[in-house]
Amino acid sequence: MRTQPSPGPIDPRATDSLSACPVCNGSRIDFFLWGKSRYGNTWFRYDRCQGCDAIFVNPRIPEANLTEALEVRQHSYVKYLPIREYDSAEADLNLVRPALKLHRGNPSTLRWLDVGCGIGNLLEAAKGRGCACYGLDADTSLISWAKENISGIEFDTANLNNIPFDPPFDVISADNVLEHIDNPRRFLDSIHNLLAEDGLLVIRVPNYNSLARFLISQFGNLSTSFVMDPDAHPVNYSRFPLHRLLNELGFDPVRTMEHLMFSYGARRIFNHLNPKWASPLQKGSAKALPLLGWADRAIPKGGLNVTVFARERRNGS
Ligand SMILES: [Zn+2]
Repeated sequence: MRTQPSPGPIDPRATDSLSACPVCNGSRIDFFLWGKSRYGNTWFRYDRCQGCDAIFVNPRIPEANLTEALEVRQHSYVKYLPIREYDSAEADLNLVRPALKLHRGNPSTLRWLDVGCGIGNLLEAAKGRGCACYGLDADTSLISWAKENISGIEFDTANLNNIPFDPPFDVISADNVLEHIDNPRRFLDSIHNLLAEDGLLVIRVPNYNSLARFLISQFGNLSTSFVMDPDAHPVNYSRFPLHRLLNELGFDPVRTMEHLMFSYGARRIFNHLNPKWASPLQKGSAKALPLLGWADRAIPKGGLNVTVFARERRNGS
């Protein structure tokens, strides 16, 4: 494999070398680019899979060492608290409502599990629609905040293979989680085991094929941009690698949203505003979101994220 020399020191934590693509297990992989750490002056190599088009860090930080990084980020939720109401309304518009429409079951009979639930914004939206809600997150600071502040939802820090709630679940969601996971195949296998036969999986990840990434590659510096986040995102997905992964693990994608959603991009803007301004603005926007839904979906491609709604494939079909 031909590799260009790195522009600076290689990150010493990157010791986990891959000989195959973590998404499709394919061995035809090529050097893609060097990406700079978001937290220091070190560099990571990215490879691209010729088979599925996934772009991944190689060598990457071993998953065990990522736990340390998680400790450092504890209480990160504090900065998102001012826009909590907005985040919940956004999850309702873009994840919960479309999922319930596809599932067709009566929401008040459905059990919803959110993996990587953070402070429970998505689950509050699902609870608002009548579902029984369960949340998992590895970050203990998030779960203790959620347990203290949100009633009527069960939260836990357990991992997927050892959960304290009884399966199966009618809907399982993972919003901005898969891109953090070293072994996406094992992760989806575990979800497969927990999902009801007619259940629905909802996966949302950052979209490598976004308009923002295109503009940065043309006019900016992709290697140092927010698109490449090698410390936290071992894999960069877009529609094709995500579909391929889901298909191989026994899921049939039934709806894919890659729209240029203003509602999703807006949260980045709110986060950067002074809370004094952000709070009234986000409250107003949260109320207006349901009305603006149609405008939000007007442009079908190029959004900052890609969302796939998928059903479990029945045996033999
Ligand atoms: Zn691949």
